[in-house]
Amino acid sequence: MADGSLVTSFDPYAVRAQFPILSRQVNGKPLVYLDNAASAQKPRAVIDALVASMEGSYANVHRGLHTLSNEATEAFEKAREIVARFLNAETSEQVVWTKGGTEAINLVANGLGLSIQPGDEIVVTEMEHHSNIVPWHFLRERYGAVLKWAPIKDDGSLDMAAYADLLGPRTRMVAATHMSNVLGTINPVAEISRLAHAAGAQVLIDGCQGAVHATPDVQAIGCDFYVITGHKLFGPTGIGALYGKAEALEALPPYQGGGEMIERVEQDRITYAKPPHRFEAGTPPILEAIGLGTALDWLSQYDRAAVQAHEHALYQHALDRLQGQDWLRILGQAEGKGALLTFAIEGAHAHDVAQIMDRYGVAVRAGTHCAEPLAKRLGVTSSTRASFALYNTMEDTDAFVDALIKARNFFV
Ligand SMILES: *Cc1c(COP(=O)(O)O)cnc(C)c1O
Repeated sequence: MADGSLVTSFDPYAVRAQFPILSRQVNGKPLVYLDNAASAQKPRAVIDALVASMEGSYANVHRGLHTLSNEATEAFEKAREIVARFLNAETSEQVVWTKGGTEAINLVANGLGLSIQPGDEIVVTEMEHHSNIVPWHFLRERYGAVLKWAPIKDDGSLDMAAYADLLGPRTRMVAATHMSNVLGTINPVAEISRLAHAAGAQVLIDGCQGAVHATPDVQAIGCDFYVITGHKLFGPTGIGALYGKAEALEALPPYQGGGEMIERVEQDRITYAKPPHRFEAGTPPILEAIGLGTALDWLSQYDRAAVQAHEHALYQHALDRLQGQDWLRILGQAEGKGALLTFAIEGAHAHDVAQIMDRYGVAVRAGTHCAEPLAKRLGVTSSTRASFALYNTMEDTDAFVDALIKARNFFV
């Protein structure tokens, strides 16, 4: 291992063995899964937890007076506590279940929109995912909010001075990603929050990548809202969570109406339940929440710093092997960036590159990665991304570089 001294306590092969899908073949080659930033694979622990819930103690939650419902409620609420602990939230009442990161951001934007006056400002960054752009565009279209864009520097880091200059008395919300899903940049989210609060604005941090590769400590960050999505954290699809400061959730109007989110319903009035249930109309994603709780418990057994060092060693090894290849343009080289490698190849379309690599069993993503404003800023129509997870190995990295060079040779 290139950087073995850093990760002596961490064994990626032992991790890998817990993921059944990673032992399959693709196109006659061993699977090299490097599309983790789009969705991560699931360990045996999560698969087993879902099956055990369905086989052993499944029923609807909260309203039952029978044993199965009580057991399911207990497991469901325990998962909420696991998420709270994972994010270092003060209490589990600050954790709202959603169907993913996208829904969590829409929930906040929808509620904020009801008090937006024309000319109120929302600050986003140039490196946001569409999930953290489009809900704010809704506020522009519907209520006359003004979107302000914090620029990035050429290395892919956020221009903090320019960001600070955008803040003003009309700023209502700063919506920024913890880690870019394209550049890998890890933003100084505590500083972003501090500056926003000094201007009287709220802060939403999109932690869909940051929760996986950085440190999602909501108290240290100081944000009002923090968003995660389960399927990138080795949990099931259809589940995510919104953390909110107690007062921020208390002040937020409900998102959807239905059962579970009300205290009382009469013919001429309704009163809402307290957070988090106020934001969880209808039957929640019970199994998915339990699965996410299991995934986070599973992930928490590994030392975060050792995992990050391992992932970074893989990234660095790929970078070292690709050094001097002038046909390759790497997008995002900010200091301390997370372990993903996005690149453009002169004269080759990213989709073709990804398809050729697939022939060698290497799964990477190509396109604009749900970040069109960023692609425009970078001056690329599309790019290819390899994103590393804790179960990837040096062999994966070598297979990726080998396949990439073969793909490139196709176009010369
Ligand atoms: C994946 C992702 C999202 C959206 O998450 P969903 O699971 O699709 O709802 C938002 N922001 C970032 C940075 C992401 O990587």
